[in-house]
Amino acid sequence: MKRRQFVTGLAAAAGVTACAQERADCAAEGAASQETFEWNLVTSWPPGLPGLGVGVENLAKRIETASAGRLKIKIFSGGELVPALEVLDAVSRGTVQMGHDSAYYHRGKVPAAQYFTTVPFGQTVHEINAWLYYGGGLELWREIYEPFNVIPFPAGNTGVQMAGWFNKEINSVEDLKGLKMRIPGVGGEVMQRAGVTQVTVPASEIFTALQTGSIDAAEWVGPYNDISLGLHKAARYYYYPGWHEMGPMLQCTVNKDAWNSLPGDLQEVVATVCQAINDDMMAEYTWGNAVALEQIKADPNVELRQLPDDVLRLLKQLSEEVLTEMAEADESAAKIKASFDEFQRLVVPYHRISELAYLKAREL
Ligand code: CA
Repeated sequence: MKRRQFVTGLAAAAGVTACAQERADCAAEGAASQETFEWNLVTSWPPGLPGLGVGVENLAKRIETASAGRLKIKIFSGGELVPALEVLDAVSRGTVQMGHDSAYYHRGKVPAAQYFTTVPFGQTVHEINAWLYYGGGLELWREIYEPFNVIPFPAGNTGVQMAGWFNKEINSVEDLKGLKMRIPGVGGEVMQRAGVTQVTVPASEIFTALQTGSIDAAEWVGPYNDISLGLHKAARYYYYPGWHEMGPMLQCTVNKDAWNSLPGDLQEVVATVCQAINDDMMAEYTWGNAVALEQIKADPNVELRQLPDDVLRLLKQLSEEVLTEMAEADESAAKIKASFDEFQRLVVPYHRISELAYLKAREL
């Protein structure tokens, strides 16, 4: 009875349908699969943060369940085991087996990593998924992480973010000049060229910085996460759209030696659960953002505004400048930009007559 339970559990966990025909192979695989693994995972996120933090907790739970307890993952929040922005380094060194953060946090080391999160005026969630899974993007991502001994997996997305919270109205490009704004990544460089002073403020300090006036503006994510930081109580104008982060991809990274130590079926569990989380996090954000936006709109102290077209036009032009210079200075950024741009040229005409046309039609 015990043995039958063990064999049934094993087959269910591994999904090995071939076992019925290939008894010898099944026995060999079964022997390897008895081994259990206990991994540590570091993230950049505060514990329990809606979306990002909850997504990682789901990732660990689902890997443990899908592997029938053979792969257990312990999560460490941002700063708990290693500094919040050094997740990739910890996975690379093998300090931990797994990480969850954003590729663009590491653009100091790997400029091209920016493309595997997002670039200004880049790809929406559907588009970046298509580029990564079907357009050759994931192969390029694996290639640039090869020297770090790390394997990346797409693992979550926030969808279109907001342009941010402002304590001053933005009616023209002139209004950007002299603003002090928290905005990271290439988006921050673009803002800097538009006359904004770019500052780096960790998530936990954005509220105070805005409220005390030490900064005039800040972007974080969107209604779901912004309301959890209380940003609607620290600034009046909530501008959209998130031209700089329209479908930012989160990454799950696995140390390559740890990956190679896993039997094939557990590797498949990790890959499949990462893909499930990639999908699930987007669903959570869509739901959470819609609910939180209603709350923000009901607040009499908040005004929801769209950035003027001439401001967006300028930001688009400056984004192209920054990305072109980045490609000129870095060979792998040039190669990845070429692939990214090629896919964008292919997908935009299709989305113009599908997503965009439909969303316009629904507004008639
Ligand atoms: Ca953001």
